[in-house]
Amino acid sequence: MQNAMCIDLHTHSTYSDGTCTPAELVDMAIQHNLHALALTDHDTVDGVAMAQQLGQAAGLLVLSGVEISTTLRQHTLHILGYGIDPNDKDLQEWLRPLQESRKKRNSIMIGKLQALGIDISEEELALASPVGQTGRPHIARILIDKGIVSNMNEAFRRYLTRGAPAWEGRFSYSAFEAISRIHQAGGLAVLAHPAHIDPGMRTQGLLIAELRHRGLDGLEVHYPSHTRKIRKKFQALAAEHHLLITGGSDFHGNSKAVNMATDSAFCPPCSLLAPLLARLDKKHEHRSI
Ligand code: AMP
Ligand code: ZN
Ligand code: FE
Ligand code: FE
Repeated sequence: MQNAMCIDLHTHSTYSDGTCTPAELVDMAIQHNLHALALTDHDTVDGVAMAQQLGQAAGLLVLSGVEISTTLRQHTLHILGYGIDPNDKDLQEWLRPLQESRKKRNSIMIGKLQALGIDISEEELALASPVGQTGRPHIARILIDKGIVSNMNEAFRRYLTRGAPAWEGRFSYSAFEAISRIHQAGGLAVLAHPAHIDPGMRTQGLLIAELRHRGLDGLEVHYPSHTRKIRKKFQALAAEHHLLITGGSDFHGNSKAVNMATDSAFCPPCSLLAPLLARLDKKHEHRSI
């Protein structure tokens, strides 16, 4: 581990829509020579304790995490929570409506696909996602396997994305509620992949100021699709608003064409870790991460 230079604070496991188990992610992080890993599954912390145990046994720092889908006016914002206690029952209870609404939404979307004449069932979807949160990427994979579409993008574009014929909305908390809930659970709230919000970069300045005012702690500046120019812009916004800077790949295994961070390619620097850990330490001196 002596030469470890990168961290990856944004990954998904089979507990949401990634295709690797927490154990596989920990193994891969060690192979990639990472200095730290965070598991940030969508709307669930169920894989975190396992990842942390395995990390501890292997000498890899695994930071607890979660990625919460939220809304702020017309925007969908993904808020990452770091350093939360994965055994916090109140947090788990708060996440439950998100999990329930995803389930309900899946069954409505399957119904819509059937109405379009596609041979697909809820049983097949259950088989495609034996543990954890089932989402649109699982439905997309079935459509690919059946030869109805040829890739994930086409599945989303033709059927699953907002406004497409099989799309259905679902419940979400506001970004402000998510930030304060993450704080209550002892964590830090970070805005994920902020360029996604508006690729033209016109809305981020005001939105980030507003989120900061409501307690946002950091910005995910290092993200595979962020160009150097975009990173610079977010670095300046982070400095202006005294926000932490984080980074992660959003690795999903086979369900997304992106790799886990590694020295020779996408590499959020391990120097990001100390300020993050220091801020967490200040929050709860007596609790381990
Ligand atoms: P859901 O949780 O069911 O709303 O699905 C959201 C997931 O779908 C996220 O992890 C996204 O990364 C993924 N996703 C959204 N759009 C696309 C796309 N065009 N191609 C592949 N994955 C996508
Ligand atoms: Zn995902
Ligand atoms: Fe996200
Ligand atoms: Fe993600």
